[in-house]
Amino acid sequence: MGHAARFKIHGDDIVAYTNLRTQQSFGLVSVRHAYARRWFLFSFLVGEVRIDRDALTAIVAHARRDAPNECCGLLVGRPGESADAGPYVMEAIPASNAASDPARRYEISPIDYFAQIRRCRRINEAQSENFAVVGAYHSHPHGGPGASETDTAQAFRDFVFLIVGLGGTTGGMQIGAYTLNGDALTPVPLTVVD
Ligand SMILES: [Zn+2]
Repeated sequence: MGHAARFKIHGDDIVAYTNLRTQQSFGLVSVRHAYARRWFLFSFLVGEVRIDRDALTAIVAHARRDAPNECCGLLVGRPGESADAGPYVMEAIPASNAASDPARRYEISPIDYFAQIRRCRRINEAQSENFAVVGAYHSHPHGGPGASETDTAQAFRDFVFLIVGLGGTTGGMQIGAYTLNGDALTPVPLTVVD
């Protein structure tokens, strides 16, 4: 089973995170060690997600800026190259929330989505890179990072769904990453890369 991670934020900086499965906490200096350890522990799981710390910091700032509305955006990076190497999110691209009720729903405009697809293709052609839109993020301004029924109903395969919960019952910010597994959005390990 996958797990979510809880991040401790100081100002705009992520200073620590907790692996919610093992309840182990790590300072950022040990994130690389934590990564090595988790790689070992979860080497049989499909779909670990790595995310650049700057991208995660930008997502958290966006979630706070748009509260009490839900924020949303796209995750751009390299798709996983094998079954057990999940995608690497290198950039978070803010999108405008096109939902009619943005306090309770999010909807990423196709204009924003297509613009990022075009941008990735330009980069790939110029630099023989392998960038793609690998996922999307949104926030739950008043709740935790669990996937709602709507989140599950709107999900699709081979895409990362990252959810920032700004106010869960346990207090504090939590972040979860999910992929669609059958009919369920299943938590996947999320690792911060410096
Ligand atoms: Zn949601």
